[in-house]
Amino acid sequence: MIPSQVTADAKTELYGIFGNPVHHSLSPLIHNALFSKLKINAVYVAFQVETAALALAFEAVRSLGIRGVNLTIPFKEAALNYIDEIPEDIDRCVGALNTVVNKNGRLFGYNTDVLGFLIALKEELQFMPEGKKVLVLGAGGAARAVTSALARAHADRLWIHNRTESRAEGLKSYLSDYFPEIEIETLADIDALRNEKIDLVVNTTSCGMRQADKVLLDLRRLSGKAHVYDLIYAPSETPLLKQARQLGLVHANGLGMLAAQAALSFELWTGEKNAVRESMLEVLKKCSW
Ligand code: NAP
Repeated sequence: MIPSQVTADAKTELYGIFGNPVHHSLSPLIHNALFSKLKINAVYVAFQVETAALALAFEAVRSLGIRGVNLTIPFKEAALNYIDEIPEDIDRCVGALNTVVNKNGRLFGYNTDVLGFLIALKEELQFMPEGKKVLVLGAGGAARAVTSALARAHADRLWIHNRTESRAEGLKSYLSDYFPEIEIETLADIDALRNEKIDLVVNTTSCGMRQADKVLLDLRRLSGKAHVYDLIYAPSETPLLKQARQLGLVHANGLGMLAAQAALSFELWTGEKNAVRESMLEVLKKCSW
């Protein structure tokens, strides 16, 4: 049993997440559960930040000594403007951040979604991207992490389909600079893929979170048996995953990635590695939505 009660005193360290909206986030739950389990005197809070106030929010990280923050919708790309350094090569080619570490007022940026996604693919779908053909739905912050993870893991070919075509074009041109060896195509019309054998479909859009959302892709159009990964974890079964289940395709929702990326952020902040991902997954699986 993981205790989730948080107590604070004058030495308590503060962590948090900046987003808008942010109140659906499960990050406070999992980080606070682990602080409590590991007896770390820290608390993790969700901050709803207005876009116009993002600069002030980052100033507060420095001035209040907030030890670390995560970024979620819609701040992953904008966060690049407010940090001092991106130490790791793997994070530099994403163009989006999800984790900031404050070391004595200097802010270091990371993107743990990249490795988090690859861990989830391996653990949940037993899928290795090397040499594979992948269709990515979406071109936002999460798509940046997913596509650069797939390119870094030597996928053979990527198609990017997004509601706003110019954003997909922007992502393609950004990725092509870093990964010239990968074949990347944007796709205005999904029907154009009818005769391609796709190994993996990844939904990185927020379409599927609401009851009324349409299905972006009819999986019956694909030839062969693609694996399907949906980054959405609430609801636990989106319309896309429901269809994947009905068609007997190997599939998973975003819970495993949520736990994996959170565990990597936690490790950057605290140095703690031991079974963090497993403990976070355990907490998440007990949630009901
Ligand atoms: P974002 O930067 O705001 O991008 C949103 C994306 O969704 C864009 O491609 C947008 O298309 C598309 N979209 C939104 N509504 C749509 C609709 N009705 N129809 C078609 N496309 C639509 O957000 P993000 O940070 O990438 O996050 C996207 C999703 O991934 C969220 O659900 C988030 O919770 C999830 N996520 C999960 C994890 C995890 O660990 N499981 C990690 C990161 C993100 P346009 O460009 O046309 O607006």
